[in-house]
Amino acid sequence: MVDVLVIGGGNAALCAALMAREAGASVLLLEAAPRAWRGGNTQHTRNLRCMHDAPQDVLVEAYSEEEYWQDLRKVTGGVTDETLARLVIRASSTCRSWMHQHGVRFQPSLSGALHTARTNAFFMGGGKALVNAYYRSAERLGVQIRYDMPVDRLELQGGRFIAAHAGAQRITARSCVLAAGGFESNREWLREAWGRNERGEYPADNFLIRGTRFNTGTLLKHLIDAGADSIGDPTQAHMVAIDARAPLYDGGICTRIDCVSLGVVLNREAQRFYDEGEDFWPKRYAIWGRLVAQQPGQVAWSVIDAKAVGRFMPPVFPGARADSLPELARQLGLDEAAFMQTLTQYNAACRVGRFDHTLLDDCHTAGLAPAKTHWARPIDTPPFFGYPLKPGVTFTYLGLKVNEHAAVHFGGQASDNLFVAGEMMAGNVLGQGYTAGVGMSIGTAFGRIAGTQAANAASKERQLASA
Ligand SMILES: Cc1cc2nc3c(=O)[nH]c(=O)nc-3n(C[C@H](O)[C@H](O)[C@H](O)COP(=O)(O)OP(=O)(O)OC[C@H]3O[C@@H](n4cnc5c(N)ncnc54)[C@H](O)[C@@H]3O)c2cc1C
Repeated sequence: MVDVLVIGGGNAALCAALMAREAGASVLLLEAAPRAWRGGNTQHTRNLRCMHDAPQDVLVEAYSEEEYWQDLRKVTGGVTDETLARLVIRASSTCRSWMHQHGVRFQPSLSGALHTARTNAFFMGGGKALVNAYYRSAERLGVQIRYDMPVDRLELQGGRFIAAHAGAQRITARSCVLAAGGFESNREWLREAWGRNERGEYPADNFLIRGTRFNTGTLLKHLIDAGADSIGDPTQAHMVAIDARAPLYDGGICTRIDCVSLGVVLNREAQRFYDEGEDFWPKRYAIWGRLVAQQPGQVAWSVIDAKAVGRFMPPVFPGARADSLPELARQLGLDEAAFMQTLTQYNAACRVGRFDHTLLDDCHTAGLAPAKTHWARPIDTPPFFGYPLKPGVTFTYLGLKVNEHAAVHFGGQASDNLFVAGEMMAGNVLGQGYTAGVGMSIGTAFGRIAGTQAANAASKERQLASA
């Protein structure tokens, strides 16, 4: 029998598998995806948010534990577990040398990449390179890896892991780490969670999934049904406004529309509905998917003028382009009169001070609802551009409740051989909201803890058996 079974094949699973193997355990990793699609949402990532008290290799200045914690507290509105959050924050300051040992390389933030040079370490070659490096290291260390292995259910006995079932196969192990992602690719579950709105729409039917199609939440549902303690609200998720023309799955990072704070966003009725300049884009981009999800038809348009060009990461699909605002309204299929009224009112309300996109500047609107509180400049310089937006789900927050040892709980009791990491428990730290790079911080911290704990549990079990 193998010591540690790891279920999942993304960052959290790989961190757990590597740590368990380094601790001397034999490890088997089961990945639902075929080899070519291995790595879950992790293959789409770019960076990790890191605490540091002084400049460190690719990170400039300092980002203290307290500032990181305050950022997290603010974006989650306090719906977070401070002990677990601080554990993640501290772990983020020391994990990079371990990642480096396993082949991950870092590079400085690119300009235009969400104001992140101080806070986020970028992976050289992106998440795909990180995933490949971890798999290479795992294979070299002797971790057994099996692809095309979606696990359907676990066999449990009084909160203890006994075996995993994948189709007709039954796989036993001394301990187990669950790292099988959220349920973002389970469209029925999303539909059930979001329900029907007052307009009679099922908003979730119009969501696009930014990452892997393999995160169906099968084991999350199974564990909750089996009595595991859960945390979080099924409608809470990291949701970004992405290009409405993106594919249903795996559109990844390049479909994100990053010019929101440089212009205005209009719904199907050509009305603005939220402050586009509320805060820096890395602290706000993850609320826009949800905001669009609340609009009629779950669709909106980001409108900018020539002044914004070159100040944001260009998206993969070109925007509609026009030399006049009425022409842009026609191209976007929006009511021209309503569009012109919204833009005229907005332009007239702009109080332009000293525009600076790197600061919370003093360019704002006056007497307009909703206000635009920073970076408000009239949209008056052709050519004008418009990008259609839809909600893009990155990952869901409903998860399994854990303690600082990453143990799954049943009726408040920690399991002694079943652990969980990554998106499957991120809701302990992220009750709502998001700040860029914290998903990988959570998965790396808890993946490493879960792997170590699972190796310890297996070693105890072996000793008991041989006593
Ligand atoms: C486009 C995009 C960009 C992102 N960018 C960033 C970023 O730059 N920084 C950041 O911090 N976060 C980012 N995130 C979020 C980040 O991907 C996650 O927080 C992190 O990768 C989660 O790791 P994980 O291992 O928990 O899940 P995943 O990487 O999604 O891995 C889950 C794994 O479980 C497997 N699996 C699912 N069900 C089963 C089953 N039943 N049996 C066996 N295996 C199963 C899947 O195939 C997959 O391999 C991004 C996400 C997306 C989609």
